[in-house]
Amino acid sequence: MGLIIRSSAIHAAGCYTTTAIRKGTRVAEYDGPRLSKREADRCYEQSPITYLFGLGNGSIVIDGHCMAMFINHSCNPNCETEEVDGRVWITAIRDIAPGEEITYDYCLYDGGDDEAVCNCGAKKCRGTMYSHEERSRRRVAAKKAASGKRDKRKTGKTARAR
Ligand SMILES: [Zn+2]
Repeated sequence: MGLIIRSSAIHAAGCYTTTAIRKGTRVAEYDGPRLSKREADRCYEQSPITYLFGLGNGSIVIDGHCMAMFINHSCNPNCETEEVDGRVWITAIRDIAPGEEITYDYCLYDGGDDEAVCNCGAKKCRGTMYSHEERSRRRVAAKKAASGKRDKRKTGKTARAR
């Protein structure tokens, strides 16, 4: 299997395969230092770009330092993430042809004021990289904000396994 990083139509750089990948194959590991959520929030409080991946209940996050951090979000992805014994794998959910960009659904949460707009170009693009649950939570927060109770959280976005 050959993965390369090059510029992507979705966002900045992306991760592409040079060889065919069969459905069910582990394409990459999302690896990097493990931080507590509190440490990560402190490190990335002011940063618009984060490569955090929440483990388990989200109290520990992986600070991505790996090939997989270049994999872009798509609302119609060819991979999914799975957490196995504290490690996160990016696994093909269909056969992937040589030259295709590798994508998975970020299911973001914890984004503060950031809208995390999605430009994946999928027919059923939901317009944001947030998970469905997070979108609901944000709608409630927005209503609260409109009624004067502002949600002041400003933390880095974190991805998670579905
Ligand atoms: Zn999308």
